[in-house]
Amino acid sequence: MKVLKFGGSSVASAENIEKVVVIVKQKAEQSNVAIVVSALGRVTDKLISAGKLASTGNEEYKHILVELEERHLAEVRNLIPVSAQSSVLSQVKKRLNEIDNICEGVYLIGELSKKTLDRIMSYGELLSSLIIAEKLKAEGVDVALKDTRELIKTDAHYGNANVDFDNSNLLIWQYFNQSSRITVLPGFVASTESNETTTLGRGGSDYTASIIAGALNAEVLEIWTDVSGMMTADPRIVGQAYPIDKISYGEAMELSHFGAKVIYPPTIQPVLERKIPVWIKNTFAPNDAGTLILENGNESPGIVKGLSSVDKIALLSLEGSGMVGVPGFSRRLFDALSRKLINVIFITQGSSEHSISVGVLEEDVIRAKTVVDSEFAFEISIKKVEPLSVERGLCIVALVGDKMRSQPGVSGKMFSALGRNGINVRAIAQGSSEKNISAVINEKDVRKALNVLHEEFFETPTKQVNLFIVGTGNVGGKLIEQIRKQQHFLKEELRLNVRIIGLANSKKMCFDENGMDLENWKEKLLEGETMDMRQFIQRSKALNKRNSVFVDNTASEAVSKIYEELLENNISLVTCNKIACASTYKNYRKLKQLAMNQNVSFLFETNVGAGLPIIGTLNDMVRSGDRVRKIDAVLSGSLNFIFNNFKEGVSFENVVRQAQTEGYTEPDPRIDLTGTDVKRKILILIRESGVAMEMEDIATDSFMPADCLEGTVDNFFAKLKEHGQVFDEIYKRANAEGKKLKFVASYNEGKAKVGLQAVDRDHPLYMLDGKDNIVLFTTDRYHEQPLIVKGAGAGAEVTASGIFADIIKTAR
Ligand code: ADP
Ligand code: ASP
Ligand code: MG
Repeated sequence: MKVLKFGGSSVASAENIEKVVVIVKQKAEQSNVAIVVSALGRVTDKLISAGKLASTGNEEYKHILVELEERHLAEVRNLIPVSAQSSVLSQVKKRLNEIDNICEGVYLIGELSKKTLDRIMSYGELLSSLIIAEKLKAEGVDVALKDTRELIKTDAHYGNANVDFDNSNLLIWQYFNQSSRITVLPGFVASTESNETTTLGRGGSDYTASIIAGALNAEVLEIWTDVSGMMTADPRIVGQAYPIDKISYGEAMELSHFGAKVIYPPTIQPVLERKIPVWIKNTFAPNDAGTLILENGNESPGIVKGLSSVDKIALLSLEGSGMVGVPGFSRRLFDALSRKLINVIFITQGSSEHSISVGVLEEDVIRAKTVVDSEFAFEISIKKVEPLSVERGLCIVALVGDKMRSQPGVSGKMFSALGRNGINVRAIAQGSSEKNISAVINEKDVRKALNVLHEEFFETPTKQVNLFIVGTGNVGGKLIEQIRKQQHFLKEELRLNVRIIGLANSKKMCFDENGMDLENWKEKLLEGETMDMRQFIQRSKALNKRNSVFVDNTASEAVSKIYEELLENNISLVTCNKIACASTYKNYRKLKQLAMNQNVSFLFETNVGAGLPIIGTLNDMVRSGDRVRKIDAVLSGSLNFIFNNFKEGVSFENVVRQAQTEGYTEPDPRIDLTGTDVKRKILILIRESGVAMEMEDIATDSFMPADCLEGTVDNFFAKLKEHGQVFDEIYKRANAEGKKLKFVASYNEGKAKVGLQAVDRDHPLYMLDGKDNIVLFTTDRYHEQPLIVKGAGAGAEVTASGIFADIIKTAR
């Protein structure tokens, strides 16, 4: 058995009730269900005002009743098919007539007792349950409607009746024992032993559902409302509030007692005893996870579970010299208040015993003052005690969480956050349990206080990462796409708000200080200003954003020349451009040093092996004290692609052309074919290993005829064709020996070289597909077997992802 409760807003309109029907139908497929419904949204308020107006002889009440009549009849017409409408309309009208008659009686005698008000209020739920049951029937669902007044028995404390659980549990159990699978019941209403209608307190439909769930030992109590769970704070006050996924009964009770209206406080009691889970769900977003209230709900992370507030609080203080050392003052104070059924929300006592203060609701102040002053009339007359002092216009803000008691520093953090924001704490209140820390503050500060505390305890500040990207070609374009797709995740999971502030390619540049809309960056760039590198840098500097990162997706020497200026201006650098790191050792060191001094990042993982974690791995080894002895590597995805595709019957020229068009080579493929690119890469690895080396120190074993290297790129292709024979020969020789051609870069104890090698089957470099790269690090720690990094080492997508990973690293 499941018990489902739908609140006022869930059943506020025909449209909403349709949503309820979908949920009920789905649940009813799985098990028996009891459906408890509230009155249509705001109907209870209207009924109360109709009753009150009638009692003061104000005929306005009739308008309210007309409005209620129209609303309920319209719901029937909207929900029930015409063929079935008339019987439902007449049942609804019968109920509406009863309200009219009662209100007329109230109007005539000019008096509204609590008992009569309960009768009037009960019609909200009686009507809504009737309409919803009929709607379900019209949908072909086999439902019974049961008047809860016949099941829940209470005392005669009208307006807020106390449940007789023994009696009610039995009645509920007996009824459900022989009822149909689906029962609709009005929430909120109950009755006395002599069948007088009572109500369970405002918001009491939750309680009705919980009483039924408890009596039937239901598998779950589902509270369907208009928010996606119990939230970290009242969402109407704290915009950043979010649903809590799990919470303990104690915590939920504490939060609701301290103002979290989403469940009526007494609701927890009946389900707690039987450990029935309570699931708070959103009728309007049924797929949202909602909040689970469970016995061990406090095991989920988080010391502070939620914030809440109670407003319209007054502080009552009893003071006087006569109180010192005289026992019994507090007892007399509390007895007096309890005689008048005044709820004490908190107690604070000064250490001097000279005074005692309690917090009560403002509505109880007058009664409290009267009863307390009369209790201490004698002491007041002899001036041993002052008349009760009253301070109004206060409210309580509370932090709630089971684990707070074992966690030092929570209250310190709370009060210092309030203090820093100029919020004066009138009193520190001790709640009824150690589950809460509360502060009494002025009502005018409540919104600010809740937001300040929410920020302090629930919001990890989001870090902004402001990007200035140059280069929007193959790699740059993919990078922007990846950022666009990942932006939401980064914000949610890593609290990183990665935004592109400046964007440029060789022709255009554009800026958006608030972060560009990445859905249409191409159009924005096209409409942008003419690119001027100087201007771009000037603007990036002038914007002076925290966490600025310059991203170089080019292979341009000119761009690499501005790194120094950027780092000097505290702008981090992420680049796939190898030129700077492969320039003179002096320059490379200078840039690294500068980044360190300025406390910014200079990251270039994609300089070697695209997105493969080669430099990062090497850095980790070196930083942890390892020493590189030897490096063997195939570092050119381009050359690997070329030599893997170069076979009998395919011309070398065509393979190179294909590699170029597919983006596997540099725009000028000679940079790859001459080994320059590979030399740069091995040089960077050598330098990152901690060895000072220059490009010229690396020996090259070139396989390219010299005239291929002269003139334009077109000229180069022409020469490749001309020398076709030379390349075919190289291939045939290797093939005849069962070897494969690999362009290998190696470093061994201070010496480095690059060149084409024919490797045989046993060599670790032999099995290397497509455009893959491989690096073997032999180090002091990895000396028997090298540490190997292998995988796709070229291509726009993987290069972009390597750049992206570096960008994220700068922020973390
Ligand atoms: P229903 O009519 O479904 O019983 P209520 O209006 O009684 O719904 O309770 C839901 C409302 O409680 C939400 O719309 C929200 O404005 C308010 N609320 C206050 N504090 C919280 C909180 N901590 N978490 C969720 N909702 C809260
Ligand atoms: N209709 C009642 C009220 O407004 C009970 C409820 O909705 O829970 O207080
Ligand atoms: Mg409610």
